[in-house]
Amino acid sequence: MAVGGGKRDILLCDLDAFFASVEQRDHPELRGKPVIVGGDASRRGVVAACSYEARAYGVRSAMPMRQALELCPRAVVLPVRMSRYREASDQVFSIFDRFTPDVEAVSIDEAYLAVSAGRGVETAEQIRDLVRRELDLPLSVGVSCNKLLAKVACRLAKPDGLRALWPDQVAGVLWPLPVGILPGVGPKAEERLVRAGIRTVGDVAAASPQLMESLLGSFGHTVYQYAHGRDDRPLATDHQARSLSEEMTFATDVGDAEQVLSALMEMAEELGHRLRAAGLKARTIGIKLRFPDFRTITRATTLGQATESDSTIYRVACELFLRHRGHPPWRLVGVSVSGLEQWQQMCFPGLTGASSQDGVDRTLDALRERFGKPVVFRARRLPPAGAAPEPGSRRPRSPSAK
Ligand SMILES: [Mg+2]
Repeated sequence: MAVGGGKRDILLCDLDAFFASVEQRDHPELRGKPVIVGGDASRRGVVAACSYEARAYGVRSAMPMRQALELCPRAVVLPVRMSRYREASDQVFSIFDRFTPDVEAVSIDEAYLAVSAGRGVETAEQIRDLVRRELDLPLSVGVSCNKLLAKVACRLAKPDGLRALWPDQVAGVLWPLPVGILPGVGPKAEERLVRAGIRTVGDVAAASPQLMESLLGSFGHTVYQYAHGRDDRPLATDHQARSLSEEMTFATDVGDAEQVLSALMEMAEELGHRLRAAGLKARTIGIKLRFPDFRTITRATTLGQATESDSTIYRVACELFLRHRGHPPWRLVGVSVSGLEQWQQMCFPGLTGASSQDGVDRTLDALRERFGKPVVFRARRLPPAGAAPEPGSRRPRSPSAK
């Protein structure tokens, strides 16, 4: 059953500077100080997260560590402790579960919740209070009647705030804001719109849908709807998941097909893991490609037999990419699996007729569970000799198998 569409209140709950907040909680001497979590500056690391004190210096996520330390030389740099963050994330999600079964996990630190209409603000206050008292972490919450307005409200609430934004406030609150406040409108899209004289959300609302489509392709139509506060996307909650997807926006457009193949492998492994964790197999595998001009294509193949294998997902995604890749460079790539079916769990190599490939997948899953993040990769993911790994921002687009 889809939820949303006005009959329920929608909350977007987003932990503030999550990794950095966990570190400041665990190391109270770091409170009030600029903290950066991420890779090592001498080894081309990137910023995974930074505290608000570091943001004041211009430090941002996905920024090269070297640049971050030029902006804020006295920042405390800490390594990523993913298992610790996963533990905190699980605790936060278990608080969400006390209020509603309708939770869509957007990422490790962000989720949409649907609650009875009229209960949104009160629920948000209670959740924020519990997360603060039980976990000592700052959580911002946006409340509205759809995902878009809840998301914008949450951005306005940050840091550590609560904000509601209802449809009758769209003209007064949403329209004066820069167009980059809308989900999916990144710096490049914003630049393109500003060049066309469209600076605020109100400018989008006053433009024609045709103009928006000519500027941003099919996504332009969505942006136009967003500008009017309209969004009919349902919540994709775990118990009603119909597809799973992963996508990666490259920090800079990628012209090397090898690098795209590495990204496809990484996403295939993530999807395979999520399928197996949820006891699901997928019949249809798809890819998404976005080019620098925002033209976006999706292509999919339906298999004769459903799969949950990383290598099958990867093989099909590769075939689709090689057939439909068009002209480089690429701005974003994604992989999705749909046509999900429940299957019999439990097949360890040796105990059943499981193939050695199943065994590899399951060993990788076990290591991932143990260490809280992928620690072993297939060779495909190693970048070509001499190439730096692409600092991409990766975000799961549909419910994780939490
Ligand atoms: Mg967050």
